Amino acid sequence: MNCMICHLDKKKHSKELWKLHQQYKLCMFCSKSGSEHSEELWELHKAAVENGQFCTDHRKQEKLYPITVGFARKGIARVCRTNADPPHDVEFVPIYMSCAECGLYLGSIEEDHADILGCMCLKCFWCDRLLVSAIPSHTEIVERDSKVTLTNTPEEEKNG
Ligand SMILES: [Zn+2]
Ligand SMILES: [Zn+2]
Ligand SMILES: [Zn+2]
Ligand SMILES: [Zn+2]
Repeated sequence: MNCMICHLDKKKHSKELWKLHQQYKLCMFCSKSGSEHSEELWELHKAAVENGQFCTDHRKQEKLYPITVGFARKGIARVCRTNADPPHDVEFVPIYMSCAECGLYLGSIEEDHADILGCMCLKCFWCDRLLVSAIPSHTEIVERDSKVTLTNTPEEEKNG
């Protein structure tokens, strides 16, 4: 049985991914279909909506409303009712994802690749990469090992 979305066999999908691909569901967060997400990205976007939906002022999940952010990108906002007189009693609070590292709002490219970037902005993502490459290289570890074997040799001679 082949998937209508990615044309791969059902066996090549995890249970969750298969469900995602058969649903044709649109993501509340980025308005793209489920098939345009990895399993992880779908979960991240879902969590972002759930977190963003919660109003700390009213201590409840508020209604969602689609909005257009910046240059024609469709986004989502929560509808927060204020005590002002109509029509100013409704406030649309845009829902964004924020960087797991520095807390700044992510751009649309960063949101679309949040699974690969680990929910980080590009700046933090590359900082992280540079730190990883600073870990002692393989050759240094090998050198340390050879010193250990050298110190062991005289003891073995004593025994013999
Ligand atoms: Zn598929
Ligand atoms: Zn999405
Ligand atoms: Zn509110
Ligand atoms: Zn960051």
